Amino acid sequence: MRDRRTTALLAALLAASLAAFAGPVPAQADPAEPNQVQGLTVVPGDGYATLAWTPVDGATDYQIERTPVDADGTATGPAVITGVWRPNRQVDNSSPTFADAGFNPGARFQWRVRARFGTTAEPYSAPVAGTTRAPWGDPAVPGQNLRTQWETTLAAQYTSDVNEYAYTAAVDELSDRVRVTEIGRTALGRPINMFVIGYPTPPATPAAVAATSPLMINCNVHGNEPGDREACLIMARQLAFSDDPRTLDLLSHTTVLIVPTINGDGRAANTRGNSTGQDLNRDYSLVRQPETFALVRMLRDYRPVAGYDGHEFGNSSAGDLPMLPPRHQNVAQSIFDESQHMIEGHMYTQGAKDGWWPCPYGCNGGGNVGLSEETILRNTLGLKNVVNSLLELRSAGGATRPDEGNTANNRRRKAYSALWTFHQFLDYHRANLKEITSARADAITFQVSNTGRIVFRGSRPIAAHPAPHPGEAPPPLDAPREDQILTEAPCAYRLTEEQYHGERTDGPAGQRTTVAQRLAAHGWQVVKVADGYVVPLAQPERGLIPLLLDGQAVEKLVDAERVYPTVTGPRDGALVVSGVTCLRDATVTGPVRVRPGGTLIATGSSITGPVDANGAAGVFLTDTAVEGPVRVAQSSGPVVVVDTKVTGPVEVSDNRGEAPLVAANTVTGPLSCGGNTQVPIDLGLGNSAQGPKSGQCASL
Ligand SMILES: [Zn+2]
Repeated sequence: MRDRRTTALLAALLAASLAAFAGPVPAQADPAEPNQVQGLTVVPGDGYATLAWTPVDGATDYQIERTPVDADGTATGPAVITGVWRPNRQVDNSSPTFADAGFNPGARFQWRVRARFGTTAEPYSAPVAGTTRAPWGDPAVPGQNLRTQWETTLAAQYTSDVNEYAYTAAVDELSDRVRVTEIGRTALGRPINMFVIGYPTPPATPAAVAATSPLMINCNVHGNEPGDREACLIMARQLAFSDDPRTLDLLSHTTVLIVPTINGDGRAANTRGNSTGQDLNRDYSLVRQPETFALVRMLRDYRPVAGYDGHEFGNSSAGDLPMLPPRHQNVAQSIFDESQHMIEGHMYTQGAKDGWWPCPYGCNGGGNVGLSEETILRNTLGLKNVVNSLLELRSAGGATRPDEGNTANNRRRKAYSALWTFHQFLDYHRANLKEITSARADAITFQVSNTGRIVFRGSRPIAAHPAPHPGEAPPPLDAPREDQILTEAPCAYRLTEEQYHGERTDGPAGQRTTVAQRLAAHGWQVVKVADGYVVPLAQPERGLIPLLLDGQAVEKLVDAERVYPTVTGPRDGALVVSGVTCLRDATVTGPVRVRPGGTLIATGSSITGPVDANGAAGVFLTDTAVEGPVRVAQSSGPVVVVDTKVTGPVEVSDNRGEAPLVAANTVTGPLSCGGNTQVPIDLGLGNSAQGPKSGQCASL
């Protein structure tokens, strides 16, 4: 059903495009020759044109021919085969389509298509001529008339850092919908900007943006893969200045976050890594570098619910647009499933309508790629409960786009295929927000429950999509080895003072950060205890925590001590907590009292209460049932009460640590919060209370 809604929206957009196009009349041969392609139509898009035709029985592939023509239809250049359609291009072969691209937008062409049987070419269709869509924006309207360096040089040059900053500042200046914010600086000091785009204006603070379930696009992490970045800059202009109903509708319902260049130093030098040689897409968990540190801090504050991460891919035989969800097995199932739905359910379907060829990363013999490293943004985002996908733009034209020996043609096809994908991403988010946020809520409640095994490395399998698409190999299996699995998850990790605050040498000199700073950038809750620091797994990024703190992890920050549960199974009588007490699957018959300085971590337990914590170092109560009132007051450290059923009132008051997380609880009684130094948050999950919600929890 979800796909049907999206389809209706896209059909309306397609109709609008068609009306704007000069002369897309279906071509009819008169009379038709045997095996001649019939019914050719051409519909313009941004930087591409969708060709569609009636299939010829028995054809093994089709060739797309394009000829530049003037207004009279006279050829102004040679006819060239620009495309080869193959059956593995799309999910539905009964309506073949091809996104012809690489041309200069606004130019006029004539197209013909012919079937082939093996190497035997059949007659060409009757020609269809038309003018392609010009670069977006009325040249006479301020703002709309902005162009990037890449656009003004007709893709001869990529947009430089200087030009990007000028363009970005101009978009910011001329559009009320846009706020450009600097989320950090590169190792060499280049600003890392982010477009924050909403209608009529973007929400004023990161927390207010977070409340709109924003989506984010990371456009250029590998400096020598610049195609997505050009698409992002064009899309920012479209979103900033377009008044079409779709854009206004999208921006009225959410906030779009676009980070055009996280790796400005690498882009300027045209290198994969940053200025220190570090591949930043192997650093999003460790955040050793200032660029990745800035991005995870942004994720913590703006809380996007969905994302795309743009790349280019050096494989000439893969599809146009290899994509892949977060596969690491510590990613919640709901996030994996919803990400897969976005790719296979939406992108494959829309690709077949518009002529683009999304496929799973690694498709067509793509090699040992798309694995489970949590250092890769795709996986890091998944472990942060963000529905997301990798996007690759196939670098070379390859066999299906034989006219890309011309560099500008190649660059334009890549950038405009990214622009198509990002717009589809916006439409997917708009149409499926309920499913996305529900997947996120399921993921958060799963993670905070700290149930199930820990996998240090290893991916969920991606089954081959049924033929004809993508027709060939899915990404490698990448199952975890035995030594990469921890069956019994600890309750928490304990770090020493040295591990937590000690100086590190794994970042650029002068810009090094401690483990404390990095965990804070991730937004993790840490309890200061007498002999160090405790990081409980009962929090939303549970899947990522062991990957950085466990000695068995492949790319860890420290080898922290595993803290295992101290109370499991039945326990009669009052429980008094001083020090760190960890309950798992415990049934406590009697009250629980956390003494000043004590830490309670309870998951999957049942407590015949009450639970009273006054002046605790930290309180984590997740996936637990409590009979009797729960009161958490005057804690010096974190308070996490999630997915807990309380029969009786809940009070969270006068806590002095980070914002208490109070989410997805069912309270048979009132929920009251007051006097907390930071206002409690619910990450959009809400709470169900029979009594009134009051004070700082009134809107949770
Ligand atoms: Zn890349």
